[in-house]
Amino acid sequence: MATSTRTRSATRPRLLATLLIASLAPALAACAGSGAGDAGRAAPARSPARATPSAARAGPMAVPTLAAASGGRAPVFTRGTWPAKDGNRADGTGGGTKPVALTFDGDMAVGQGPRAARGERFDNPALIATLRRLKVPATMFLTGRWAEQYPDQARSIGRDPLFEVANHSYSHHAFADSCYGMPHVPQDAMRGDAERAFDAFRRAGARRWVPYFRFPGGCYDDRALRTLAPSGMTVVQWDVVSGDAFADDADPVVRQVLAQVRPGSVVVLHCTRSAAPATEEAVRRVVPALRDRGYRLMKVSQLLAGQVR
Ligand SMILES: [Zn+2]
Repeated sequence: MATSTRTRSATRPRLLATLLIASLAPALAACAGSGAGDAGRAAPARSPARATPSAARAGPMAVPTLAAASGGRAPVFTRGTWPAKDGNRADGTGGGTKPVALTFDGDMAVGQGPRAARGERFDNPALIATLRRLKVPATMFLTGRWAEQYPDQARSIGRDPLFEVANHSYSHHAFADSCYGMPHVPQDAMRGDAERAFDAFRRAGARRWVPYFRFPGGCYDDRALRTLAPSGMTVVQWDVVSGDAFADDADPVVRQVLAQVRPGSVVVLHCTRSAAPATEEAVRRVVPALRDRGYRLMKVSQLLAGQVR
């Protein structure tokens, strides 16, 4: 992270974003199950955007981020507002382009190397190929361990303008006390764990990585948010759970996404074939359905940029 080199400009754009701060996000088994962390919508807050310098080769891309929340907590973005004046009707008949961000978590935890060596696939190249074929901009939340296991893919994804690579921790361990039995990251190791993921992206040769962080299992608390705040990262959770984790059948995934999505939504899916084997088919079916309904698929950074007033 380039916290110390962040520039501030008097002319920087301001974000009008919906900040949803949940005291404890409903966690998701293996990073997605049920619950969306959509507890308690705060009033829209006007927050200054921060940009990291594009000239810093070793730093993240210059993308919109949110200012720290009250109490010195890292900001949490769950979904965007939809500013179209005439289009806020839930049935989507109001006209205008409706934004939606598909996000994919590349889950591989520390300690899972032996499973990968035995043939378990924590990656999903067919999914990436489908996203490219359908020209779907997407934000990929990779663990550092994932990038270490699949450096060629991390590099390829991380150099493709269709995508941006975001931080899903290095270890995929829990940043809150109780999170599906996942091992816990001690508080004094949290920032280091996140930084280590960025290090893995750098070593893989990824360039298009962004200062967005998603908690493993979706689990976090105020202590984790305060601990990560100095890193300058924006926490990006979701409002739509696809239910693709451990789903063998794409049908319920497709139905769930289409039933829950609304303009500005952030949808969580997975880029981990062994734990989410139906995701590629679900994406193949969801993407045209969303486009038919007037949605424009975009990366989280584009969704955040759309909040600029
Ligand atoms: Zn995960």
